[in-house]
Amino acid sequence: MATTNPKTNNDPEKDNKDELRKRQMNFGLSYFFAALIGMWLFQQFILTPLLIQEMEIPYSEFKTKIKSGEIIEVTLGDERIIGLMKDSTSSSAQDQPVAFTTVAVPGGDPTLIEELDKAGVKYGVREPASPIGNFLLAYILPLAFIGGIWYLGYRQMARGGLGGVMGVGKSKATEVKPEEINVTYQDVGGADEAIEELREIIQFLKQPESFAKLGGRIPKGVLLVGPPGTGKTLLAKATAGEARVAFFETSGSEFVEMFVGVGAARVRDLFEQARKAAPAIVFIDEIDAIGQSRAGAVRLGGNDEREQTLNQLLAEIDGFRSDAGKPVIIMAATNRPEILDPALLRAGRFDRQVTVSAPDLTGRLQILRIHSKKIKLAADFDLERAARITPGFTGADLANVINEAALMAARRNGNDVTMTDFEAAIERVVAGLEKKSRVMNDQERTTVAYHESGHALVAVLVPHGDPVAKVSIVPRGRGALGYTLQMPTEDRYLLTRDELEDRLAVMLGGRAAEQVIFNKISTGASDDIKRATELARRMVTEFGMSEKLGTVAYSTRQYQFLEGSEDGVNASPETLKAIDEEVQRIVTEQYQRAQQLLRDHRDALERLTHQLLVTETIDGTAVRQALAA
Ligand code: ADP
Ligand code: MG
Ligand code: ZN
Repeated sequence: MATTNPKTNNDPEKDNKDELRKRQMNFGLSYFFAALIGMWLFQQFILTPLLIQEMEIPYSEFKTKIKSGEIIEVTLGDERIIGLMKDSTSSSAQDQPVAFTTVAVPGGDPTLIEELDKAGVKYGVREPASPIGNFLLAYILPLAFIGGIWYLGYRQMARGGLGGVMGVGKSKATEVKPEEINVTYQDVGGADEAIEELREIIQFLKQPESFAKLGGRIPKGVLLVGPPGTGKTLLAKATAGEARVAFFETSGSEFVEMFVGVGAARVRDLFEQARKAAPAIVFIDEIDAIGQSRAGAVRLGGNDEREQTLNQLLAEIDGFRSDAGKPVIIMAATNRPEILDPALLRAGRFDRQVTVSAPDLTGRLQILRIHSKKIKLAADFDLERAARITPGFTGADLANVINEAALMAARRNGNDVTMTDFEAAIERVVAGLEKKSRVMNDQERTTVAYHESGHALVAVLVPHGDPVAKVSIVPRGRGALGYTLQMPTEDRYLLTRDELEDRLAVMLGGRAAEQVIFNKISTGASDDIKRATELARRMVTEFGMSEKLGTVAYSTRQYQFLEGSEDGVNASPETLKAIDEEVQRIVTEQYQRAQQLLRDHRDALERLTHQLLVTETIDGTAVRQALAA
C-alpha cells in the first residue's frame, strides 16, 4: 500500500474507531430513512382511511339527494360535509345507510339549512378543525410513536434482555441436552492428564451436595489451554457427556458487538439459560476475544463494550456460588492464555487451568484408533507406524489424515484403507494438494532439484539426522516448490546441542547446495533460513547453548507450544547485540558445514539431482543408494 503518511495508516485503533463511527453514522442515516418511510405509510394507510372512508359525491348530487329524501343525516363542516345516505346502488331490500362526503361550496350555501329542514334531515355542525390539531395528528403523532419505539429499543438494548424487539441481547449459544451429547472421554485420545484433572469437575456436577458438605470450595471455571485442534472443544463436550449435564457452546467472538451493553446482555442471557438447565456446563471457545487484558493496546470494537462484557462475565462467575444444588460450570478455551485479563484468572474464577497439548506417540495411537473405527483398514495396516510417522500432528490433523486416506482409497476403488493411502494422505495434509498444472521452467526445476537434494543428503550425512522418507520436486500448495519429508523414528523431548546443530545443517542444506553448484543463491530458501534462525535464537536465549552468553535464559517466552509467538527477550542492549552475534555465528557455522558436506559428496548430489529431475519423486532408499554408489 503506497501511502505518504504511514503513521496514521498503521494505527489500527484509529482505524477501528473510524470504522465504528462510520457504522454508527450509517445506522443513524438508515434509521432516518426508515422513519420517513414509516411515517408516509402511516399517513397513507392508517390515518387517511381513518379520516376519509366515505364515498365522495358531487355537491349537486348531494342537493338532489336532499330533495329526493335519500339523505339521512349530515355534519356540516367549513370544507366538507359528511353524513349518511340511503344506499341507492344496491337494490337489496334492506336499506343499509352508507357514509358519504362532499366538498362544501366555498363561502357556504345560504339555502342549505332551509332545504335540510324541509327534507327533515338531522344535521349538526362540526367544530372548525384547528390547523395545529391536524398537524399534530399527521406528523407529530407518528413521529412520537416511532421515536418512542426507538428509544425503548435502544434502552432495552443497552440494558440487555431486548428479546422482544430484535433479539440482539439474546445469547447465540447452542444448547445440547444431556441425552443428546454423544461424546465421552472414550472419544478423546491422548489427553489422559487433562481428563484426570477434569474428573473432579464431573464429580462435582454429579454430586454437588457432597462437595458442599465438606465445605470444599466449589470449582467454577476451567480454562483449557492449548494450540488449535488439540481437542479442547471435544474435551469440554465430553465432560458434559460424562457428567450427563446440559452443554452450552458459544464463542467469545459472539459477545463482541458494536453497541455498548449488547455483549453483557448476551452473557446474562446465556447464564440465565444455563441456570434454568442446571446442572450444566457453559463452554466459551476463544475466550481471549472478550477476556483480553484491559491493559492491552489494540482493541477491536469499543472499549466500553468489551469492558462491560468482561465485567458481566466476571459477575456471573462470581454469582454462581448460591446455587450449590444446581451447579453451572464454566469452561473456556484459548490458545493465548498470556493475553487474558488477570481478573479472569483469579482464584474463584478460572482458577483451574488445564493444558491440552499436541499428543505424543501413544496419544496419537489412541486418536488414530478412535478415528479409524469408522473406516475399514486393511488387515496389514500398522497403526503404530502410522502414529510414529505423524509427530507434531494434533488430534484434528490426525482426524483429517484418516479422512483423506479413506478418500484416497475410495478414489482408487480399493476395498480398504492401506498404509500407502495413509502416507499419501499425510503428504497431502502436510504439503497441500499437488499442483501438477503449475509449470516451472527448466532452470527453476533444476534449482529446486539441487535444493531438495541438498536437504536430503545433509540429512543422511549428519550423525543425528532424521531418516529421509521422500524427496519431491512436484510443486505443492502453500508456496512450496518442492519438499523433503523426514520421518523421525520417535518423539523427542530432549535434544542435545549436537542434534540441534544437525537439524540446522539440514535446514540450511538446500541453500548450501545452491551455493555449491551455482555459486549463487535463490529466493527459494527464505523459509529454511527463517526456521534456522529461530532455532538458533532459541538455542542461545532459551537453552543456554552458547558458551559466550552462558547458561542464562534471556527469553521470556512462557508457553512453549506457541511456535513463533511474540516472545520478549530480557537483556541489556549489549547482551542483545551479543545474542545476535551468537545466533549469526551458529547459523553461519552450520551453513558452512552443510556446504562442506555437499562439496565432499558432490557426485552423490549430482546423481540425486539427476534422478529427481527424471522421476520427480524419490524415496529415502534412493537417497542412501546415491551416496553409496
Ligand atoms: P480445539 O477446540 O482444541 O481447536 P477441537 O475439539 O475442535 O479442537 O477438535 C476438532 C476435531 O479434531 C474434533 O472434533 C475431533 O474429531 C478431532 N480431535 C481433536 N483432538 C482430538 C483428540 N484428542 N482425540 C480425538 N479426536 C480429536
Ligand atoms: Mg475448538
Ligand atoms: Zn528448503
